[in-house]
Amino acid sequence: MIRNIPEFEALRQRAESCQDCALAGTRTNVVFGVGSLEARLMFVGEAPGKNEDLQGEPFVGAAGRLLTELLGEIGMTREAVYIANVLKCRPPGNRDPRPEEIDACKGYLREQIRMIHPRVVMTLGNFATKLLLRTETGITRLRGRAHQWWLGAMLVPTFHPAAALRGGPRVAEQMREDFALVRHLLDEPPAPSVSGAAPEEEPAGVEARQDAELDPTEQMELFRTS
Ligand code: SF4
Repeated sequence: MIRNIPEFEALRQRAESCQDCALAGTRTNVVFGVGSLEARLMFVGEAPGKNEDLQGEPFVGAAGRLLTELLGEIGMTREAVYIANVLKCRPPGNRDPRPEEIDACKGYLREQIRMIHPRVVMTLGNFATKLLLRTETGITRLRGRAHQWWLGAMLVPTFHPAAALRGGPRVAEQMREDFALVRHLLDEPPAPSVSGAAPEEEPAGVEARQDAELDPTEQMELFRTS
C-alpha cells in the first residue's frame, strides 16, 4: 500500500517531462503506469507499443483486453491492480529496449514498486521477466512458479498477452495457470517475514527454488542505486 501519494505524484510528474534518454524525442506520450496505488498485484511489461504511446496508458488494445479478461477470471479488476512497463516511452517500431534506455529509466519502475509495495509482481513476457530476475533463462522455464523477490514480494512470470493472442489456446491456458497461482498467493495469509517487510529494507533477493542459473544477488542489480 502506498504511504506517500504526493511522493508518487512527484515521481509521475518527473517521468512525464523526462528527457533522460533518446526515446524522449520520439514518444507521443509518456506511459507512466495506471491502476490502484493500494494494489496487492502489480504487472510489469516491456515497453509501450503504438496504441499505448498514443493513449498514454499501458496494455490497451487486444492484449490489454486479454489481460483484463484473465484478471476477471480470478475475480479481480484492472482498477484493483497496478500496471506499468520497464520503459515509460515507446521504442520506435517496437524494437527491443536498449541497455542505455533501461539504465536511464529503471529508477522509475524501482520507485513505483517500492512505493506501491505489492505482494505479487507478475512479469509479462520474456523481456521483463529476464530483466527483473536477472537471468538468461527463458520465460517457458521460468513461468509456472513463484520466485521470492524484492521487498518480500513474490514474482510470478508469465507470457505477454500478445504472445497468447499469437500463440493460441495452449499459451492462454498456461497464462490461466499462472493467474491461478497469483490468486493463490494473494489469498494466502502473509508470512511474518513478508508482512513485516518495510519498503525501505534492502532487497532480500532470495530465489525460492534452487536454480543454479538464477543468482539471487544479481536479480536485484536492476534496482540497485548507483
Ligand atoms: S524511456 Fe524513461 S528515461 Fe527514457 S525519456 Fe522516457 S521516461 Fe525518461
